[in-house]
Amino acid sequence: MKIIAGNWKMNGTKQNLEKMIQDLSNVETNNKIILCVPFTMLCTESGKIGLGAQDISMHTHGAYTGEISAQMVAATGAKYVIIGHSECRQYHGDTNSTVRAKAELAIANGLIPIICVGETMDEKQAGKTMEIIESGVRESVPSDISTPIIIAYEPRWAIGAGLTPTSTEIADAHTLIANTLTDMGLDGTPILYGASVKGTNAAEIMSIPNVGGVLVGGASLKSDDFIPIITSVN
Ligand code: PEP
Repeated sequence: MKIIAGNWKMNGTKQNLEKMIQDLSNVETNNKIILCVPFTMLCTESGKIGLGAQDISMHTHGAYTGEISAQMVAATGAKYVIIGHSECRQYHGDTNSTVRAKAELAIANGLIPIICVGETMDEKQAGKTMEIIESGVRESVPSDISTPIIIAYEPRWAIGAGLTPTSTEIADAHTLIANTLTDMGLDGTPILYGASVKGTNAAEIMSIPNVGGVLVGGASLKSDDFIPIITSVN
């Protein structure tokens, strides 16, 4: 069983989501399917598909115009929330410490955080990939947790770029994350790979040791692109 999570970013409508859920209802799979969609779609009836948000506020409530709290997301019936996505780190200034604060709020409200870590192109070129990944995990993941979390390794330079690291690079990153999580007492936490996953590379990526599934951006928007990823493994 793999976890196949889609990240719709700021795309689609409730009608698009209803159509996707309908299309996915006919797919035979043992994999866990999650769709992380804009806040406005979270109240959609989704059957066996898990719905998630793409971010939450680092505050519980109050004078934070435009923000949405973990409690509000949980009240929609959503089960998941992406935290620390590359675009939130880039455009909203999320750091490992704000990611950790948001993940703590997600957990406190019964959500499963999908915590993203990964290196930029500058960090990769400076030879800092492993350092950034390990500090990302150690600093973004709350300590002393007993409820499930999911980690996503997303090389930031590869997101939406049609680029993927080599299988060896993905394997090395996932082994490091798995070992770090074990050291933190979080053995067995699923670790997803994300960035430029498609139907044509999904099976190979998910055969790499310690890859527990994928986080998919662009190719999760249309069922013709998403279903081949879901059915590429069982
Ligand atoms: C993402 O944004 O999380 C992502 C993986 O995007 P893409 O698949 O489009 O690279």
